[in-house]
Amino acid sequence: MTFDDKMQKIYENKLNITYRMKDAINNREFSVFYQPKIDFRCMCICGAEALVRWFPKEGKPIFPDEFIPVFEQNGFILTLDLYVLDEVCRYFLQNEKILNIPKISVNLSAYSILAEDVIERITEIVEIHDIDPKKLEFELTESAVESDIGLFLQRVKELKSLGFTVSIDDFGAGLSSLNRLCAVEADVLKLDKEFFSLKFAGDKSKAVVASVVDMAKRIDMLVVAEGVETAEQALWLQKLNCDYAQGYYFASPMDKVAFSALLQSQKIFSIEEVISKE
Ligand code: C2E
Ligand code: CA
Ligand code: CA
Repeated sequence: MTFDDKMQKIYENKLNITYRMKDAINNREFSVFYQPKIDFRCMCICGAEALVRWFPKEGKPIFPDEFIPVFEQNGFILTLDLYVLDEVCRYFLQNEKILNIPKISVNLSAYSILAEDVIERITEIVEIHDIDPKKLEFELTESAVESDIGLFLQRVKELKSLGFTVSIDDFGAGLSSLNRLCAVEADVLKLDKEFFSLKFAGDKSKAVVASVVDMAKRIDMLVVAEGVETAEQALWLQKLNCDYAQGYYFASPMDKVAFSALLQSQKIFSIEEVISKE
């Protein structure tokens, strides 16, 4: 396939996604999956991230990396983020009497968090379902909000004053800046999963992660390591006093039926001992 063919294919894909998105939301083709977060102290589930999936009525599932960037460009992401929040609130309502549901975090794109009426719309959804804001967390990516950092800081303050937890997602990726971390009143730092890619083996990336965890503690932030895929990484993070882990090593994102079953089992996770080859 030539470069031109590839570009044409990407363009057609984008058009197709834009053309189908409104019907898709009306037909409830979007589902929310849940990926558990594990508390390193009790090794139990302390939360979960809500991750959207698109199962078209016809054709193969479409993954977020394909459609989220398109929705971020055309503005439909706000509708989708609020749809996910609404679904999460419904999940609480349907299950809170039978399950001890931990805090659930919902992603808010840069476009969504800067939208004029986003706080009113979030409040309305949460109030309609009568959900305690303490049960909800919003994951925000500050590096994506270069256009209006003042408004971003203001929105974090507003979410916090309403009782929601706020986390800074993908920390360490792109342009996330250290001095801005002093200004933002967030509760949680989520280390970008790239830290735990193949490059993890390197002493340099280990030193950076150790320093970031230490820094977060000094400014009273909790730390979630995302993308934890091996026992070696998990043990190392636990020794470092990192608070929580999220990743395929413990559990992949799963549908609400599987997530409910996992909660019901009250599973205590364990990390296999790793024998160092050195
Ligand atoms: P994210 O917010 O950084 O979410 C974590 C992504 O890492 C998820 O990909 C998850 O499935 C994946 N992941 C989990 N454990 C591991 C692991 O051990 N190793 C690796 N390599 N990856 C792991 P997913 O679900 O495909 O979502 C991709 C991105 O799409 C998310 O990245 C987020 O930026 C966006 N996204 C997903 N759902 C929503 C949503 O409802 N609203 C918005 N605005 N964005 C969303
Ligand atoms: Ca996230
Ligand atoms: Ca992330």
